[in-house]
Formats: sequence, structure tokens, C-alpha cells
Amino acid sequence: MTTAPVFNFSGKVAFVTGAGSGIGRATALAFAAAGASVAIVDISDRGLTETAAQIAALGGTSLSLRADVTKSAEIKAALDQTVAAFGRLDAAFNNAGIEQPGASIVDLTEEMLDRVLAVNLKSVFLCMKHQIPLMLANGGGAIVNTSSGAGVIAIRNQSGYCASKFGVTVASKVAALEYADQGIRVNALCPGIIDTPMIARYTGGTEEGRARIIEQEPVGRMGKPEEIAATVLFLCSESGAFITGHALVADGAQTAGI
Ligand code: NAD
Repeated sequence: MTTAPVFNFSGKVAFVTGAGSGIGRATALAFAAAGASVAIVDISDRGLTETAAQIAALGGTSLSLRADVTKSAEIKAALDQTVAAFGRLDAAFNNAGIEQPGASIVDLTEEMLDRVLAVNLKSVFLCMKHQIPLMLANGGGAIVNTSSGAGVIAIRNQSGYCASKFGVTVASKVAALEYADQGIRVNALCPGIIDTPMIARYTGGTEEGRARIIEQEPVGRMGKPEEIAATVLFLCSESGAFITGHALVADGAQTAGI
């Protein structure tokens, strides 16, 4: 599957966090294939190296930036380097995230809670805080923040993760309201179960674990990272010009029964 023929981001600059793996990598590749210059951001040097090599193999352009998305100064520095290298910022996919070990509210440790909220939710605030002024400087832009099915329905033993993802949706809607009249669109994206290293960790990587989680998907399979990437490109493209303040579900009907 390729997204390149559908969308044209030639001359545009995209910034993707969590680009060293899974959904972020697939989206960075899709932006590059569609002609964008892509700033790829992650804490994993190895992940960045692999993604950069895959973009180069497509003939695309990327800039690897090691940054921890929980740190405001590191995000700002990465964005400053992006604009220094590519001259502008048009699209941002704030996607870096971590899973939460299953634990009831009583058993969820303060450390786990702080970590999942910082990586999944605080990061989205910090990214938007530093991205929006750069986008305003070139007349507008589009931001997509990764929420989840866990930002649509409550999941037992996932209170911290669910709270982080519901929070991403709300933060996206508030930002959309605040900047709607200044040419900046902000949407949340709620993927279902997507076949990435995160899900391999979550299922233990076994066939039984995969089968158990696929049972939650009415379509009978996991989604592919490339299918989420295509949705991000749509939301950031001119085809999505009237869509802002929305939480778009791409989940094989996982949450349709609520
Ligand atoms: P993944 O583990 O494959 O990739 C996540 C990437 O984020 C990794 O490269 C990791 O190094 C990076 N990262 C983690 N903490 C970071 C930090 N502090 N700073 C910078 N980078 C950091 O996971 P994925 O499945 O591709 O998930 C991407 C996003 O999608 C996450 O926000 C996740 O919660 C969300 N999501 C995933 C699924 C799914 O089924 N895979 C479903 C819904 C939502």
C-alpha cells in the first residue's frame, strides 16, 4: 500500500514524533513519499537511523532529531532545527507514546501514572505550544495528535493510558477552537489496534496473544501502520481543509458498538 499518488506535499515540511517505529515511521515515510521534507523525532537513535535510511531509499528528504517529547526545551530545539534546515513548518504529527502496564486504579503506581501522562499527554501540549507560533509565521498549518480507541472508550486496567488519550482529544479540540480563525487546523486521530512493536509488546508477541487482541477488532484483523499514515496525510492535506476540532476514528469498528 502506498499513499504517495494520492497526496502531494511537495515543498511542504512535516514534523513527526515517535518516528523511529510503528505508526510514526509509516507516517514519516508516507509524508516523504508524498514529497514533504520530514523532520523525524524520537528518543531512539536506532529507530531514527532506520527510518532515515528507509526515507533515503525512497529518494525522500529527512532530518533526524533526537528529542524527548516530555521536555519542552528539547521539543523547541528540534522545531528550531527543523525551521533552520527546511525554512518552515506546515504539518505536525504528535504521535510519540508509550503503553501502560495493566493495573487497576488502586495498583497503578504514581510513577507509572506520571510517566504515561507525560509521554502521551503533556508532550502534545508542549509540541503544540512550540509548533503553533511557527505555523502562524507562515500563514497556517495542520496538526494531528495521536489519541486512541482508549480515548473513545474506557478500558479496564488502563486508567492512566485512557486518561492520557481522552486528554489528547480534548486538548486537540481546544487548540482547534483557539486557532480556527488563524489558519491552523488541529485534529485528534484514534487508531484501533495497529500492528506495531507496541502491540507486539502488549500481546507478548505470541500467536495466542495476537489472536486474543484481534478478537476486539470487528474487521477480524489488526490495522496496518500505513493505513493510519494515510489518514494523517488526508487530515493534513487540502482534502481535509474543513476538518478541524475532530477526533477521527480509524479502528475497523473496534469502538463502533458503544
Ligand atoms: P511504537 O512503540 O512502535 O512507537 C512509539 C515510538 O515513540 C518509539 O519509536 C519510541 O521510541 C517513541 N517514544 C517513546 N517515548 C518517547 C519520548 N519520550 N520522546 C520521543 N519519542 C518517544 O508505538 P506505535 O504503536 O507506533 O504507537 C504510536 C502512537 O500510537 C502512540 O501514541 C500510541 O499510544 C498510539 N496508538 C497505538 C495503537 C496501536 O495499536 N499500535 C493504537 C492506538 C494508539
